[in-house]
Amino acid sequence: MRKKIVAGNWKMNTTVAEGLALAKGIVEKVEEVPADVTLVVAPPFTHLTSVAQVLEGTPIQLSAQNCADEPKGAFTGEVSAAMLKDAGCAYTILGHSERREYYGETSAKLVKKMALAFENGLDVIFCVGEKLAERQEGIHFDVVATQISEVLFTLTAEQMAHVVVAYEPVWAIGTGVTATAAQAQEIHGFIRNTLSAHFGEEVAEATTILYGGSCKPSNAQELFACPDIDGGLIGGASLKAGDFIAIAKAY
Ligand code: PEP
Repeated sequence: MRKKIVAGNWKMNTTVAEGLALAKGIVEKVEEVPADVTLVVAPPFTHLTSVAQVLEGTPIQLSAQNCADEPKGAFTGEVSAAMLKDAGCAYTILGHSERREYYGETSAKLVKKMALAFENGLDVIFCVGEKLAERQEGIHFDVVATQISEVLFTLTAEQMAHVVVAYEPVWAIGTGVTATAAQAQEIHGFIRNTLSAHFGEEVAEATTILYGGSCKPSNAQELFACPDIDGGLIGGASLKAGDFIAIAKAY
């Protein structure tokens, strides 16, 4: 059975005090979430060590939103995978569309980041997804297949056990527009088949594939009912403990 995950990407939101209050709010309600659903929160870097203390002794996992593509040294402003592990992270998100779009995150960089994440004992939530124009052109399957092959196909089957894929259509992120359950299932099925063709069915069946893009309490149930959707990567709705928990309870 593959893992069900609901992960909250806080992006560049909250002060430390607000982030701690949010983390505490999630901890207070975690028992309402089905035991087979893993909650992950991804606060900004500055919050990680203090949020880690709030999460201690709970089943909630800590994630970073990104990590450096170099192990250490003169890389001003960067945060290494080793530092994230030291801060208490179990995961890092990599390849979010905002990183790809605004910070020049290429597949080549992601391959380096992923290797460093694994070397330091971090699992990776690897984001893929097409832009609106690419969907309108009908090339969304090709775009996602390329994002997967350029990065994930450099990994071994053993390393794939440490990867969660998040399908996030860029046109649905932060827009209030959600992919329909049918659209999401279609591409999640495609992602699983793509993984299966390269790594074999066992790896593909074991890989958790999350949906992201305006997922909220009102649409989570329909999305999570799809056979190839194993949870969600949640942006805006993860900033309210009640909404985040309601999404996780939708399973
Ligand atoms: C995201 O960017 O990971 C995301 C899913 O954002 P939102 O839920 O706000 O669309």
